[in-house]
Amino acid sequence: MATSRTAIIAGNWKMNLGPQQASSFAREILPALGDIIRHNSSLMSILCPPSISLASVHKVMEAMPTPGVELGAQNMYYEDKGAFTGEIAPGMLKELCTTVILGHSERRTYFGENDELVNKKTLAAFAYGLRPIVCVGENTDQYESGETQSVIKTQIQQSLAGLSGEQASQIVIAYEPIWAIGTGKAATAKGAGEVIHFIRHTYASIYGESAAQAIRILYGGSVTSANISEFMAHPDIDGGLIGGASIKHDFVEIVRTTA
Ligand code: PGA
Repeated sequence: MATSRTAIIAGNWKMNLGPQQASSFAREILPALGDIIRHNSSLMSILCPPSISLASVHKVMEAMPTPGVELGAQNMYYEDKGAFTGEIAPGMLKELCTTVILGHSERRTYFGENDELVNKKTLAAFAYGLRPIVCVGENTDQYESGETQSVIKTQIQQSLAGLSGEQASQIVIAYEPIWAIGTGKAATAKGAGEVIHFIRHTYASIYGESAAQAIRILYGGSVTSANISEFMAHPDIDGGLIGGASIKHDFVEIVRTTA
């Protein structure tokens, strides 16, 4: 990665670890994460438990202050409040979190989220002072038929439309090829790096070169402590969005390897 950007290792716990399990796991990993990050100011980590566990993990983080480790959510709605049964508003998350993952491919695939909705959520996150991590990525068919760049370009243009100048340099993007998520078949660092370079280039054409150079772009998809350093060696890759390995002790090893 480029040294001017602070790397991010984010853990997407997905639908795992309820309030009690989540707080025990947070208590287990926070001291080690704190030790690693204390000695490396160009690295941060974000834990993203399921929404029901945010409060219990937040409580642990308050009791064990760990600079450089933040709390994030996996999703939210874009309205302020009201009759939206089952949804969580940005202002509610802001009481506990700094960050929110938006447009994850599982949200797009299983819950019908499209770029228009992801865009509304992204703008709402900024309006409430949350840092959005917006996910993009192609599926297997699109990958095999060589459509990766056109798919990604549309996702970037539509999901990230309408950002202000300041927001444009604060967004975090996660490139997660769907064929690499949870499959154990990670992209190669070269392949992921090429797409991430393309994302930065596409972003520059919308928001200018200096915003494109400021933003963090993460890779996600079967990242472990065994392959993270290959990804981090690529100048365009600024960290990882970790799924399966984020609820194991390997998460600490991933952060340690990145530091
Ligand atoms: P994975 O998931 O690390 O289990 O492949 C990544 C993600 O979905 O964010």
